[in-house]
Amino acid sequence: PSGEDNLKRRADKSEKLFLSIPNKQSALAASRAYATHPHLAGSIEDFHDALEILDLYQAHFGIHKPVDLPVFSAGSAASRNATLDVHKLNSPSAWVDVYFPVMNTPVNNSLEVLDNNGKAEWTADLTEDGDPGDPDAAKYRDFIPTFHGFSRDGEAEGQLIYANYGTYEDYENILAAGGNLTGKVVLVRYGGVFRGLKVKRAEELGAAGVLIYSDPRDDGSVTVENGYEPYPLGPARNPTSVQRGSVQYISKYPGDPTTPGYPAYENATRTDGENIPKIPSLPISWSNAQRLLEEIEESGQRLMTGKASKKTIKFVNHVDTRVIPIWNVMAAIPGHIKNETVVIGCHRDAWVMGAADPTSGTVSLHEIVRGYGALLRSGWKPLRNIVIASWDAEEYGLIGSTEWAEDFADWITENVVAYLNTDVSSSGSGWNVGASPSLAHLIRKAAQDVPHPNTPGKSLWDARDDEGPFYGPADPDFMATYAESRKRRATDTGISPLGSGSDYTPFLQRLGIASMDEGFGQTSSDAPYHYHSIYDTQRWQELYADPGFGRHVAVAQHLGLVGLRLTDAVILPLNTTQYSFELEDYLTEVESIASSLSLDPDFSGLEKSIVNLQSKSKALDEEKSKTEKRFKKLLRRCQHHSKECRPRLLHDFVRWSLRVLGVEIKETLFEKFLKAAKHVQAVNAKLVAFERGFISEDGIKDREWYRHLAVAPGKWLGYGATTLPSITEALTFDNNVTLAEVESHRVAELIDKLADVLSA
Ligand code: GLU
Ligand code: CA
Ligand code: ZN
Ligand code: ZN
Repeated sequence: PSGEDNLKRRADKSEKLFLSIPNKQSALAASRAYATHPHLAGSIEDFHDALEILDLYQAHFGIHKPVDLPVFSAGSAASRNATLDVHKLNSPSAWVDVYFPVMNTPVNNSLEVLDNNGKAEWTADLTEDGDPGDPDAAKYRDFIPTFHGFSRDGEAEGQLIYANYGTYEDYENILAAGGNLTGKVVLVRYGGVFRGLKVKRAEELGAAGVLIYSDPRDDGSVTVENGYEPYPLGPARNPTSVQRGSVQYISKYPGDPTTPGYPAYENATRTDGENIPKIPSLPISWSNAQRLLEEIEESGQRLMTGKASKKTIKFVNHVDTRVIPIWNVMAAIPGHIKNETVVIGCHRDAWVMGAADPTSGTVSLHEIVRGYGALLRSGWKPLRNIVIASWDAEEYGLIGSTEWAEDFADWITENVVAYLNTDVSSSGSGWNVGASPSLAHLIRKAAQDVPHPNTPGKSLWDARDDEGPFYGPADPDFMATYAESRKRRATDTGISPLGSGSDYTPFLQRLGIASMDEGFGQTSSDAPYHYHSIYDTQRWQELYADPGFGRHVAVAQHLGLVGLRLTDAVILPLNTTQYSFELEDYLTEVESIASSLSLDPDFSGLEKSIVNLQSKSKALDEEKSKTEKRFKKLLRRCQHHSKECRPRLLHDFVRWSLRVLGVEIKETLFEKFLKAAKHVQAVNAKLVAFERGFISEDGIKDREWYRHLAVAPGKWLGYGATTLPSITEALTFDNNVTLAEVESHRVAELIDKLADVLSA
């Protein structure tokens, strides 16, 4: 057999073996082990889970447990770089990276309606009822009181004002109608935008504090009005459930608030933390919100945004803020090519038990580790390096991943070809995937190759349109927003750009690494996901989110397969031409925003740059296929051994071909082969340079931590992506044509430079 046959056989064999490993029994067992205790970032339970994950890597990757070698690295970058010298590794390695962010934990809280004498006329019970039938849940009912990560310690007292979702627009509407937020306690519902931004805008407008509640209007079909019993008796929302969560101002920067842009070592010089609120906030339940709404609702009337109470509301949020250690658990599998690495990650910390968030993702990662372990035992060695990460403190604001990315920014920039993320891999029926446009085709093809979790004959790709089992009428306003959110951008590939909300952010938006994020989420006809509450339990997961655990497995298979294809393809499967054409869609969108604001900026320069990039990318496509053909042709011809071959002097690629593909080389072909292998690496370097090309050293105005000028989390969205962010926001927030044009020149400059790199 020729080298090319061997290459194909190797891929088929490894994919088949990999896909056979993740299974429902194993996933279920892993979930039961991880999700039946709480694991708040920095807690002792989180530390124990870190050791469990370390154990998992060691067991499956055949890593000897060191007796006296330290696996913990904390301190200076120099002492830790050793672990990242993947090129020096001969066999897999696992370790724990420790960082020291500032975080808060709840101490006590209260919420009252005051009478005219300032006495409490109603005092809220701020605890969640729990599930008496679930021994684990009952044990941990009061373990982590309801609070917001990074919320300001303090009290707020004032009139209550209702502000709908607390989006920028909601607040603008209140101001436009003559209302104001000064000194008020703002009541908003979850949904629409990242919770921290609800607090941020309220703070800017002078509010005293913010209460955020979960509204059953946002639960789609599965409501008590539609006849569904609340959890734990049925699938509807438990009215006492509370959504914890970070209120960090992520649109400024994520990670440890006191070390923006650099790693949070124990002895780091710290700032005051510019990305956290200065006013207190509390998350509250629907049942408490109902009582508060009585103060502003008039019977029979729809809830009115901007309506204020007569009475005074008072709440207290006491938290303890200090430096707390966190633990990223890392593993590296060295490949044949030493300077190209695929990173796969999921966070491990949860607000409480977190059966869905993030245990379902951790379970999928667990199955990938088992799958790659089986490959290693079969004698496989990846072509490129693989790094696996179990991030910590994601919940507080992507801290583990951000500190790691800040710590190893140079290494990541030079070595990482893609970052693959899952967070919640299962909380409902609909499969969601977001990614860099260059990964879209790879992702779709892999999803078509992975079976649907529950329906024979269908693929995972089909699960994007799956609905849940519960039907009934839903709030029309909610359905309108829901339909909008399900409408996919980039319709030709079906894959939308990434905003923020999970650990891909530092990789994509700060360092320019092509990234993907995937998982099954709640649809309008699924049981409402009791996100960040004590009800995100193993029982709920088994009963409603993924009965049978097929979804956990499908995500493991897909993410692992995408990882394999990235690591083992000769030419990296990155489609830059797709990306270059989507840029044009981004520009069209910016233009339509401008015209909707009756502005008429001149983006012709940017347009020209994009068109030029498209043609350079198409030329690169030619180069890709020629290079691959040349390489494979040589592989076909290389079958005769030559003594003159000096493998240790050869390029990694040649060595790989010789050893792994069982190819022997003729002396006469040697030089040619070396040249072909060098071409392959040069082409791959261009493909990787594509995403990096959008990174501007100066970053995005007012939030310079974000440096990707093609995509960013929307300034007032957080979770949602804004494409061409600096241009878009110059229009939408500043209404400034000149600024938009200046920004478009910055983007065009980057694109021109990138085009030069592609055609070099
Ligand atoms: N995924 C977490 C959340 O939505 C953290 C996101 C963040 O802070 O960026 O609350
Ligand atoms: Ca930092
Ligand atoms: Zn999560
Ligand atoms: Zn979360």
